[in-house]
Amino acid sequence: MINDFNYLKPGSVKEAFEMYAEHDDCKVICGGQSLLIVMRQGMVAPEYLLDIKGLDELRYIKYDEKDGLRIGATTTHREIEKSPIIQEKYPVLSLMETKLASIQTRNWGTIGGNLAHADPAGDPAPVLIALNANIKVGGKNGERTMPLEDFFKDYFETALEKGELVLEVHVPVPPAKTSVAYQKFNLLDSDMGIVAVAASITLNGDDTCKDARIVLGNAAPIPKRVKNAEELLKGKKFDEKLFEEVGRISYEESEPVADIHASEEHRRHLLSVLTKRMIKKAWEQARAVA
Ligand SMILES: Cc1cc2nc3c(=O)[nH]c(=O)nc-3n(C[C@H](O)[C@H](O)[C@H](O)COP(=O)(O)OP(=O)(O)OC[C@H]3O[C@@H](n4cnc5c(N)ncnc54)[C@H](O)[C@@H]3O)c2cc1C
Repeated sequence: MINDFNYLKPGSVKEAFEMYAEHDDCKVICGGQSLLIVMRQGMVAPEYLLDIKGLDELRYIKYDEKDGLRIGATTTHREIEKSPIIQEKYPVLSLMETKLASIQTRNWGTIGGNLAHADPAGDPAPVLIALNANIKVGGKNGERTMPLEDFFKDYFETALEKGELVLEVHVPVPPAKTSVAYQKFNLLDSDMGIVAVAASITLNGDDTCKDARIVLGNAAPIPKRVKNAEELLKGKKFDEKLFEEVGRISYEESEPVADIHASEEHRRHLLSVLTKRMIKKAWEQARAVA
């Protein structure tokens, strides 16, 4: 059962900021795909709901050759999945979305809601961090932008201050010869992953690794970079033994917790296997891009 609440429907982002600042016990609702579940469970019972779903000012996908990609917070997962420019320029983002929940959930759930919810098993965050994305947040007192990896603070906790909304995700233009690969391991198709790995590889002209990003999903309270493994890859050539070692580092540095779906040991094993596979896949793909 959901407790009674007062419903606020702003007509603009400015009005949303004002309403959010005015009401103390207030929760933002967008697609409601995560919030309504915790409200039904009685874990959250706000006095006010601020419905931002209709704010079309925040519903956009913009691409510029120099600036990269900008996605407004109220853009749905399905719109990201189906965007021709995302399919062309950031195919990993579109592919990730095809495996996120069902089409019904993707039609309602939004990128801003997904990131603000900060579920450690969320799919977009590891991919966006591998793509070096930033997030813009703001409220009545102004806006600020931060690297997405700094936005996540703990299980379901973010850097959002009181009265702030997620406004936009910005993905820069990837450096030359860069590719990103992502895979989650899940028991039910299109459900939250047991674990997931996103890997980004940038190659030098001689096929050595110039830069790498490895981001583990559902392996810690927040999306986890494996920086020791990233460093190990730099300057090296394609080498299966090296990838084994990188997988071992993921195994050791992850902090997964056991639940009814998988033990901690099984999750670590999956993380090491997926890390190896994603590094290899991103490397092979990077050879083929300009
Ligand atoms: C059956 C099912 C399967 C799912 N499977 C997956 C999956 O495989 N992978 C995955 O990643 N996710 C999955 N999800 C989660 C889903 O992707 C998210 O619930 C959805 O994207 C959240 O967006 P929303 O707009 O519905 O957010 P809401 O539910 O409206 O809000 C979620 C939270 O974010 C806050 N919020 C929303 N928008 C903003 C904003 N702009 N600024 C600040 N705070 C905001 C709300 O206050 C709330 O705390 C699944 C959900 C369901 C129901």
